[in-house]
Amino acid sequence: MNARAYFDWNATAPLRDEARAALVAALGVTGAASSVHSEGRAARALVEKARAQVAALVGAEAKSVIFTSGATEANILALTPDLIVLGKPVTCDRLLVSSIDHASVLSGGRFAADRIERLPATADGVVDLDALRAALAKGGRPLVSVMHANNETGVIQPVAEIAAIVHAAGGVFHIDAAQTAGRIDAGIAALGADMLTVSSHKLGGPQGAGALVLNGPQPATPLIKGGGQERGFRAGTEAIAAIAGFGAAAEAAARSREAAATRMAALRDRFETQLIAEIPGAVVIGVGMARLPNTSLVAVPGLKAETALIAFALSGIAVSSGSACSSGKVGASHVLAAMGVEPALASGAIRVSLGWSTTEEDVESLLNAWKKVAASLTKRHAQAA
Ligand code: PMP
Repeated sequence: MNARAYFDWNATAPLRDEARAALVAALGVTGAASSVHSEGRAARALVEKARAQVAALVGAEAKSVIFTSGATEANILALTPDLIVLGKPVTCDRLLVSSIDHASVLSGGRFAADRIERLPATADGVVDLDALRAALAKGGRPLVSVMHANNETGVIQPVAEIAAIVHAAGGVFHIDAAQTAGRIDAGIAALGADMLTVSSHKLGGPQGAGALVLNGPQPATPLIKGGGQERGFRAGTEAIAAIAGFGAAAEAAARSREAAATRMAALRDRFETQLIAEIPGAVVIGVGMARLPNTSLVAVPGLKAETALIAFALSGIAVSSGSACSSGKVGASHVLAAMGVEPALASGAIRVSLGWSTTEEDVESLLNAWKKVAASLTKRHAQAA
């Protein structure tokens, strides 16, 4: 029986001890955060503590944090044509998104389908800045949304440069930092974001919480209308346990971020170096680009991700094929298609994502499993061809 090794941290991370403790403690609190009695005030205190913790992670003011059910909802809340900018209602006439963004951003949020334009990406996995400039030159007031780092390749996008370009054209800029907050520096001002999305479960908080952080411009209307919670931005009784866990995880992530990043990058680099040395033809997609320290997207010609994932799972190794956001789906990756990766290579792409508790032994198990899987499957695929 093999020990299990988890390499799917970009899909979700384990709950941090600090988050579990805060979550369990919050489950013992009875009040709703909007009630004025002391139970309600106790719930309110938990929410406000978490708000300050999440704000600190991204260098924002606590009042700029709107809690949501996750990054998906935060993205959809942000992507609206109707904004308030400098206290005045403003209408964005179109939405520019990068073609390598997450499905929730590609959906366009509250924009009509004919108002959404997709910006191409380069072969290196970066949004095409010339295409962005050309799209902005058409005029109007666009909302632009680009992710901080890609969830499949880990490639970090030049968001500060994009922000300068967008702002010079009078546009508003949203960044999806679901994969970066807590892993690399995601300070909202330095990134140049007007609105920033953060996810709880990617940084060791519970699933079912996230935040949209504002830096000036804000949605004019809530996505979820009702009781006016979250300063009117998001109705519904606050999920205090999930929010408290999110806050505690954000604080722990901020504290340990730099040390964890250094450790993960060393393990990831060792994995890639050994894989390339030992598996003929293995390719690391996005290598040489600025990448998240924990992410490696690898393809081996002749190895189909679909079958490899099952073989890995049987060997106790949890990896994924590209984006694993919809359960068990193994389809063509829109990210690799946008980068122009050959379909034959793209169909073999396997994402390895590490986290703060990944060990050298885990990486050893992964490399051993890889050798076995590659040897048996490339032979089988060659026979079938
Ligand atoms: N954006 C990115 C870049 C992601 O990787 C994900 C999760 N795969 C999301 C958004 C959605 O996050 P959540 O699960 O918190 O809705």
